[in-house]
Amino acid sequence: MANNIKEDLDPFDIAVKQLEKAAKVINLDKQALDILREPMHILTVRLPVRMDSGETKTFTGFRVHYNNARGPVKGGIRFHPQETISTVKALAAWMTWKTAIVDIPLGGAKGGIICDPKKLSVGELERLSRAYVRALGEYIGPEVDIPAPDVYTTPQIMAWMMDEYENIARKSAPGVITGKPLEIGGSLGRGDATARGGMFVLREAAKRKNIDLSKARVAIQGFGNAGQFAIKLVKELFNSKVVAISDTKGGILLESGIDYEKLLAHKNKTGSVVGFPGSKQITNEDLLELDVDVLIPAAIENQLTEANADKVRAKIILELANGPTTPGADEIFHKKGVILLPDFLANSGGVTVSYFEWTQNVSGYYWDIDEVYNRLDKKLTKATKEVLDASEKLKVDTRTAAYTISIKRVADAMKARGWY
Ligand code: NAD
Repeated sequence: MANNIKEDLDPFDIAVKQLEKAAKVINLDKQALDILREPMHILTVRLPVRMDSGETKTFTGFRVHYNNARGPVKGGIRFHPQETISTVKALAAWMTWKTAIVDIPLGGAKGGIICDPKKLSVGELERLSRAYVRALGEYIGPEVDIPAPDVYTTPQIMAWMMDEYENIARKSAPGVITGKPLEIGGSLGRGDATARGGMFVLREAAKRKNIDLSKARVAIQGFGNAGQFAIKLVKELFNSKVVAISDTKGGILLESGIDYEKLLAHKNKTGSVVGFPGSKQITNEDLLELDVDVLIPAAIENQLTEANADKVRAKIILELANGPTTPGADEIFHKKGVILLPDFLANSGGVTVSYFEWTQNVSGYYWDIDEVYNRLDKKLTKATKEVLDASEKLKVDTRTAAYTISIKRVADAMKARGWY
């Protein structure tokens, strides 16, 4: 990216900066801040795995429990060749604020294995997944730490992990992990939960800004799990018009609106959104600066920075991706009056339905889809109103406002436990 401005883009440094900024606003007790600045537990594991060739290859994995004052910790497991402990720590911190903002009785965690899952056979992937669970041992469990799928991990991987855990524990324990296939205790509604939750957040923000979503133009960066459901649902629920979308190969612009089903068929046939009939090709950078009402970053980190924030024309930014905006850009958006719906609120639908899955597993009673959607709507509508109210009251940007609510909830739980 052409960026002459030196911003610190280390994920954990950003997470700590965001925490400190909000802590200052609410004058958080120094001892509480000291606890919250670092994870409670960090575990590094080495995982020898027999490869199909007969050789043993040893992988490195992590699991970080950021804070468990509000309950068992929860967070995804990423399989990624460039995984770092800094990323895992930052994501674990963000999970802590995410579970707190939607007020579910869980803390935050994250895990990862340094590996390239695209280069592993199904058998190698299964042995690696089971090895990770054996190495974590009592570090996970329905009352301790409940992992879930994340980058490059799937319901199948969750199923192997649950099976391994139950074999070790010698009991049924579906609540040890979420994002499972429906046949073994997954929840209805998990597939599109992140994007659907984001839609409830967007609806509340649009009400505040008096934006009629049925007339809104939308641009979406990313056409993966989050982006695909976003394009589908924004049309289905509000009849908004998605005019631009992108993937790693570039973006497309179609003023008359992009049809989700046709785009999906095109992507499945060609491997990219680029070249969609009737569309104009644009870059990922162009997409972020289009004249739209709503911008939905749904791809990767650090896309909206001090270098381009001034050129962004959207009135609302819905961060379905984790960490797409840098602290410098946050300030610019706040000054411009853009409503930025921060990642740990905007994409909290996924963890909220994961929490619903866990409650169904531990109670043994399963809900129908309407119950999942209604409860998700209720949770996210309430959380969004609280964040927008706090932003107006404290006169701070929406991310800082959301942080103040989450931090206070976690700090209150720590205080009640006598940690400070
Ligand atoms: P995914 O791998 O399914 O999709 C990612 C998409 O981003 C792909 O279309 C890819 O082509 C595109 N992409 C990658 N690099 C890009 C670039 N430089 N420019 C433009 N597009 C690029 O991932 P996902 O599950 O959709 O997750 C996307 C983001 O949403 C991540 O930040 C993730 O942490 C966050 N998120 C996802 C969920 C979920 O339930 N899927 C939940 C919470 C947060």
